[in-house]
Amino acid sequence: MIERVESESRKLLGRLRDTMAEKAAGQERLDKITHLTADSIGTEVCSIYLFRDDDTLELCATEGLNPEAVHQTRMKMGEGLVGRVARTGKIINTADAPATRGFRYMAETGEELYSSFLGVPIQRLGEKLGVLVVQSKDARKFSADEVYALEVVAMVLAEMTELGAFVGEGAALRARHTEPVLLRGITGQEGSAEGHVWLHEPRVVVTNLVADDPATERARLIEAVEALRISVDQLLSGAVEDAEQVQVLEAYRMFANSKGWLRRMEENIDRGLSAEAAVEKEQSDVRARMMQANDLYLRERLQDLDDLSNRLLRILTGQGMQTGAELPENPILVARNIGPGELLEYGRSLRGIVLEEGAVGSHAAIVARALAIPLVIGTKRIQIEALNGDHIMVDGDQGVVHLRPDDTVVTAFRDKMAMQAKAQERYASIRDKPAVTLCGTRIRLDMNAGLMADLPSLESSGAEGVGLFRTELQFLVRNKMPRRTELVDIYARVIDAARGRRVVFRTLDIGSDKVLPYMAPQDEPNPALGWRAIRVGLDKPGVMRMQLQALLRAANGRPLTIMFPFVAQFAEYDAARNEVHKAIAREERLGHVLPERLEIGAMLETPSLAFASKRFFEEVEFLSIGGNDLKQFFFAADRENERVRRRYDTLNVSFLSFLQDIVTRCAATNTPLSFCGEDAGRPVEALCLAAIGLRSLSMRPASIGPVKHLLRRCDLTEVRRIIETAKDAGEQTVRPAVMEYLRSLP
Ligand code: PEP
Ligand code: MG
Repeated sequence: MIERVESESRKLLGRLRDTMAEKAAGQERLDKITHLTADSIGTEVCSIYLFRDDDTLELCATEGLNPEAVHQTRMKMGEGLVGRVARTGKIINTADAPATRGFRYMAETGEELYSSFLGVPIQRLGEKLGVLVVQSKDARKFSADEVYALEVVAMVLAEMTELGAFVGEGAALRARHTEPVLLRGITGQEGSAEGHVWLHEPRVVVTNLVADDPATERARLIEAVEALRISVDQLLSGAVEDAEQVQVLEAYRMFANSKGWLRRMEENIDRGLSAEAAVEKEQSDVRARMMQANDLYLRERLQDLDDLSNRLLRILTGQGMQTGAELPENPILVARNIGPGELLEYGRSLRGIVLEEGAVGSHAAIVARALAIPLVIGTKRIQIEALNGDHIMVDGDQGVVHLRPDDTVVTAFRDKMAMQAKAQERYASIRDKPAVTLCGTRIRLDMNAGLMADLPSLESSGAEGVGLFRTELQFLVRNKMPRRTELVDIYARVIDAARGRRVVFRTLDIGSDKVLPYMAPQDEPNPALGWRAIRVGLDKPGVMRMQLQALLRAANGRPLTIMFPFVAQFAEYDAARNEVHKAIAREERLGHVLPERLEIGAMLETPSLAFASKRFFEEVEFLSIGGNDLKQFFFAADRENERVRRRYDTLNVSFLSFLQDIVTRCAATNTPLSFCGEDAGRPVEALCLAAIGLRSLSMRPASIGPVKHLLRRCDLTEVRRIIETAKDAGEQTVRPAVMEYLRSLP
C-alpha cells in the first residue's frame, strides 16, 4: 500500500517538476498545476488561493470551478473554509463541507456542488502565502496519503512563489520582494540610517525540490546529518566551561541523533522529495507545532530543532555560509535576534540594525546604544520581507523601517537625515563650550559608558567625564566570567582614555533584566524586585571583591570613584563601603599603590533611599539618581514592559516633586548629587531636571550635544517658575507648559 502511494506522490512530483521546467507564463503554470493535481488525486476540483495583501485571499487558478471566478473571487482571512485554513494554518479535511463550521457559499464558483473539501495552507518558513484546495462531489474524507500529496504540492508552490515562478503575464501574482514595504517596530536606539540589507541568517532557497533517485538523496541526507553531528560535537567540546551553552548544545546533540527526526526526513525522500526539500518539509511541520505549543519548554525545544534544520539546510545547499567579508555598502543588519558578542564582532561597520524580536533592555540593544547604531526592535515580518542587498531606511526615532522605499519616501527620509546632520554640526560647534544657561547656571554634563567602544566618545561628545560606567556590560558581552587581570586591563584603559577626567565606576549591576549568560538564572517571581545588584554583591562577595581589587589596581595611584547600584538602605552602603576598605587594606599589605583619592558613592534608585536618615546623606560621598529604576519603582511601572513603560511622564508633577525633595535633602548636607538615567539625555527632561536644582547630568554620548544646545538657550529661573505655576494649577504634568515656553524661544 505504502509502495503504491509513494510512487503516486513521486509521480505527481515528477509531473510537477516537468511543468515547472516548461517555459510558460506564471498564470499558465498555475493553471497546469491545478489541472495535474486534480488529475493525480482524482478530484473534480483543485484551486489555488493566494494572498493579495495581508488580509485578502484571491482565487488565482482553478480546475473545476467556474473559470470566470479566477482573479474575481476574493475572501478575507478567516472567511469561509479557505479563509479558516489561511488563518489557522491548519488543514481542513471534511466529507461534508456545507455542514462544516465556517462554510461560506460562493455562487460565482459553482461550489455548492461539491461535498468533500481538503484545504492545506501554502506557507514558507512560517510566512502565509495562500491555500491549496481540492474538492469532489462524492462525500469522502481524504486519506492521510492524499493529504500528504497535497501538502507537498503546497510546499512546491511556496518554493516556486519565492522564486517568482508565477509572476508575469496574466498577472497571476505580483512579484515578491520588489514592492515598497513599511514595517513598524519599537525604538531600540534613536537615529536614522540608509543602506542595504544584510541578513544575519540568510534564507536558504531550495531549488531542486523533486528527486528521482531516493537512494542518492538518502545518502546525501545521511552525510549532511553526520557533518551536522560533528559540528555540534565540536561546538560542545569548545564550550566545556560554559554550563548554559553546554545545555543548549546537549539538546542539539540529542536532536541531531534522534532517530525519529531522521526517519521522518527519510520518509519525505521516499515520497519523492530531494534531501533539502525533505528537511524543509520536516521543518515546516516543526514550525506548525511550534505555533500551537503553549508550553514554554516545548517551544524552546522546537526552536532548537528549527535551528538545527537551518544548519542542515545550509550544509546541504552550501548557501548561507556567509562571512562578514562580503558586507554590502552601508550594511543594515536584519536578524531575528542577535547576541551582544556577535553584534560587537560586526562593530561599527553597521549603519543600522533591525530585529524581529529583541527587547529595549536586551544586551544587543545595550551594545547598539553604545555603538550609537540606530536600532528598531520587534519588527514583525522583516525577515520574511527583506532580501540581502535590498535598499532599506531605518528610522530609529519612530521605530519604523522602510524596505525598498519609493521615491517620495526616499526624498522625505533624506531631508530628515540632512536636518539631523545640520543639527549635529550645530552640536559639534559647541562641543568645547560649557553648558551654561542664560541665567548663568553651569551644568556638568557627563557621559554614560560601559564598553571599550564607548571610549572614543569621550573626546567627540564633549563630555566632561564618565558619570556612569556600567561595569556589568563587560561581563554581559562575554560568555565566560572575565578574569581579574582582564578587568584590571579594561579599567586601566578606561582611566587612561579619560585623561584625568572623573570616571564613576559602578560595581556589577546584575540580576533583573541583566542576566549573565554563564550564571544559573534565578527563578524569581519578580526579578526587578529580586536578587540583584548590590544584594548579590553583598550575599556573594567573591565577584565584588575581585572587581574592587581590579579597580584599585587599575587606578594604580590615580584618583578612583566607585559607586554602588541599587542601594535601598544605609546598612547596604555601609557594608559595601566596608568591602572597599577591606580591599584597600589588602592591597596595602601586598604592597600595591593606593589611589591618590577615593570617592565612594551610591545610586539612588529606590524611593526608600530618599527617606534615609540624615546620617546617610552626611556619610555617603555622592549620590547619583538612577532615574530608570527610580521611576519604575515610583510609578510601579515595569521599565521593560511595553504596555506600561511609557505610561507615566517623567515630568509628572508627583515625580518632579519627589526629585525636588531629593535635591533639597542633598543640599542640606552638601551631598553632591547627579542624575544618570536615560531621561538625563532627553533635552526637555534634562532642562526640567536642571530647573529643579540638579547640577550634574550623565547621559548617552550622543545626547550631550542636544542637551547642551537647549540648556544654553534657556533661563532656568523662568523654567522653574513655569513648573511651579503648572503644579499650582493642578496639572498632571508640566510638559505642555514647558513646551510652550520652548516654542516661544527665539
Ligand atoms: C538607572 O536605573 O537609571 C540606571 C542608570 O541604571 P541602569 O539603567 O543600568 O539600571
Ligand atoms: Mg538602575
